[in-house]
Amino acid sequence: MLIRGAVLERIGASRPYAASQPLAVTELDLAEPGDGELLVRIEAAGLCHSDLSVVDGNRVRPIPMLLGHEAAGVVEKACGSSDLAVGRRVVMTFLPRCGQCSACATDGLAPCIPGSAANGAGTLLSGAVRLARPDARPVLHHLGVSGFATHAVVDRRSVVPVDDDVPAVVASLLGCAVLTGGGAVLNAGRPQPGQTVAVVGMGGVGMAAMLTALAHDDVRVVAVDRLPDKLALARELGAHAVATPDAADFRAEVVIEAVGHAAALETAICLTAPGGRTITVGLPAPDARISLSPLSLVAEGRTLIGSYLGSAVPARDIPRFVALWRAGRLPVEKLVSATLTLEEINTGMDALADGRAVRQIIEF
Ligand SMILES: [Zn+2]
Ligand SMILES: [Zn+2]
Repeated sequence: MLIRGAVLERIGASRPYAASQPLAVTELDLAEPGDGELLVRIEAAGLCHSDLSVVDGNRVRPIPMLLGHEAAGVVEKACGSSDLAVGRRVVMTFLPRCGQCSACATDGLAPCIPGSAANGAGTLLSGAVRLARPDARPVLHHLGVSGFATHAVVDRRSVVPVDDDVPAVVASLLGCAVLTGGGAVLNAGRPQPGQTVAVVGMGGVGMAAMLTALAHDDVRVVAVDRLPDKLALARELGAHAVATPDAADFRAEVVIEAVGHAAALETAICLTAPGGRTITVGLPAPDARISLSPLSLVAEGRTLIGSYLGSAVPARDIPRFVALWRAGRLPVEKLVSATLTLEEINTGMDALADGRAVRQIIEF
């Protein structure tokens, strides 16, 4: 079938992207789903820093690639025996879990091995590529999702179903921002009553981590960011205290780093209390290095944890976030800072690069 989608044609294009247009919104051919795959009509897709990282070359991926990995939609066709009926709303997740490999046996700790290989190659979990230009030249999938499009073919193991009372915009955010930031808090941070959680970097993932920490009883939450606007929003969303990195003079038992810069991780490590955990979820440039005193880790009994996909098992954790949202304790929709059309995607990437956006959502 013919679809419309945003294809990354060039890596490292000059700014502003509104002028250089690295993403081309174009007509593409989407093949029928194969066995164990679904055709999904996309309802909403969020612009995440990991999309920008592919555009600016910080995260090296093969091109041409149809970007977008934070999305939700409705099943239009299921191939083979499927537990998901046509019409069911699904959350896309950006790392399929095969359920068979040694990493999948680690309860979310390690990224699925075939899933990671497929993501690196720009294919679905089966190795298939279902996207092509009208002249049949292939276009690659982004993290098994390719959500910046009217439709997608995805592996069943790339999605988690949600009930219809979860709006599409909320569902889309559950797949990356909430799973990554919130999962880091629930699965890696595990704050106890009376403890403090600090979040360094108040973009979409950081804000989601903050909201998840605020959903805990008797946990104090501090937001850290360089930008006054981000701190003001964090306050509005319920942060008990806010600070710029230079002015932060507290230490917290759980510190989440959600920026993706070496300096931010150094800040997060400095802010971690004795016995505490520093959890890093940001994706810095591959050659980034930090300066760290190993003695302070030992002498203060501290832990440094890397967390991909919020150390989550999506099929287990997305229902946990839905339950918190339904109870009014996780106001995910407050992360939305703007709504865009697909045609505005390059402008949206500029806003993201400037740090002006929390979550911009494309609605279809
Ligand atoms: Zn993301
Ligand atoms: Zn696996």
